[in-house]
Amino acid sequence: AAPAAAQPTASQPVQISEVRQSSSRENRTAAHSHIRGLGLRPDGYADPNSHGFVGQTHAREACGVVVDLIKAKRMAGKAVMMAGGPGTGKTALALAMSRELGTKVPFCLMTGSEVYSAEVKKTEALMENFRRAIGLRVQERKEVYEGEVVELTPEESENPLGAYGRTISHLLITLRSSKGTKKLRLDPSIYEAIQKERVRIGDVIYIEANTGAVKRVGRSDAFSTEFDLEAEEYVPVPKGEVHKKKDVVQDVTLHDLDVANARPQGGQDVMSMMGQLMKPRKTEITEKLRSEINKVVNKYIDQGVAELVPGVLFIDEVHMLDIECFTYLNRALESSISPIVILATNRGMATVKGTTSPLSPNDPGLLSAHGIPPDLLPRLLLIPTHPYTSTEIGTIIQLRAKLEFATATAPQLADNPQALKVSATLAPDALEELTRQGTNVSLRYALQLLAPSAILARARGSEGNVITGADVNEATALFWDAGRSAAQLKDRAGFIA
Ligand code: ATP
Repeated sequence: AAPAAAQPTASQPVQISEVRQSSSRENRTAAHSHIRGLGLRPDGYADPNSHGFVGQTHAREACGVVVDLIKAKRMAGKAVMMAGGPGTGKTALALAMSRELGTKVPFCLMTGSEVYSAEVKKTEALMENFRRAIGLRVQERKEVYEGEVVELTPEESENPLGAYGRTISHLLITLRSSKGTKKLRLDPSIYEAIQKERVRIGDVIYIEANTGAVKRVGRSDAFSTEFDLEAEEYVPVPKGEVHKKKDVVQDVTLHDLDVANARPQGGQDVMSMMGQLMKPRKTEITEKLRSEINKVVNKYIDQGVAELVPGVLFIDEVHMLDIECFTYLNRALESSISPIVILATNRGMATVKGTTSPLSPNDPGLLSAHGIPPDLLPRLLLIPTHPYTSTEIGTIIQLRAKLEFATATAPQLADNPQALKVSATLAPDALEELTRQGTNVSLRYALQLLAPSAILARARGSEGNVITGADVNEATALFWDAGRSAAQLKDRAGFIA
């Protein structure tokens, strides 16, 4: 169970700390980095090639209507389902919808099969993802002192032991802004923070009244001539009063709050990060902790301090969920704090998982469209996605190649000196070959061949890293598509038999 101290109570506000999103979830959306939105015109019709989206115009237009329904708050109790073959852009469409809803709208991507784990109950795993897709915008009014330091005087007192003279007990600090100055007497803890920030006269600082946090913003430009040699970032003397109330907005998800409160001791130093690795993470967030957090969140909402931001929960391969999960899903859609749920499947008629009995092997179970129970189906807005033409496939490959092989910019290079080596271009015969693979096998397979082809071109010593049709053919010979691989094993199995 979560430690007792971690439970927030109504009188003790929930602690909000910044939690980084796990990179594995970011990586999952990296394949769609070229998608910037649905690419619709103001009249709602889709441009054939816009915002990184190529073709699939009917589905994009339908998604546009759903975005309008969401904005008009007409989606309660309903969900969207994309039905279409692999690589027809179902995930890309869901991501584009979340982009259309706003930049700060959470997007959570999961696969149906993810709910099966030995550690966590299926519905618990679903609940965690639901909470990842619900954002909370918290508006806090902070009292801050912001100004340029014009005086720093330690306040001394007699050492109680007498023998060693005096000790520093407080710090007197005078801050100046355009409307005047204010003298502050700082507690030893804030004094320590001032020392840690290496605050000097002429610095512009920011002290948060309720937490005592100190931030050095820069140096005052009033001192620019005196301090020219050590020129850092100069900032003008702050405008207005030294003491002011400031509105700060934080965006977090309910899952961020669960994590932060299940582990309030978690710092950013190496030791506490190790401590977090050693603990079984998933057992820390309890039902009780969540309901306590919900209470505090509801209180904040009632007070007008916080606002819920429903995001998008995308469940790929939804036919992998079983009847228990679907029952949960049905209930969760009814909740007043549900995210927008987008399901995706490439199955036609299928048995709903969990409806066959091991005791009667001849029982076909519950056969239903897309493997989804009939009581959930009527709540779904179904959007079909269709296979692409080879011209569309070619355009998508070009789009991805442009992004994956873009010459790195100077700041990217400073971060990663290897980045330059990825720069490459596609020769016309390479594009032709990739388009053929995209049409005959799948778009996803063609896109996956891009990076290995670039590496092969580089290994060959291609001038200017130009990828040719031969490089693509070599990559195709090295990495097989699923169909070819399965056929080979089938042949061999026949041989053994
Ligand atoms: P699966 O059923 O296998 O999960 P999917 O239908 O979700 O596939 P995506 O993952 O969205 O397909 O598409 C595969 C790749 O092709 C992604 O990189 C995606 O961004 C890109 N893509 C798909 N459709 C389009 C499109 N119409 N325009 C631009 N890029 C696209």
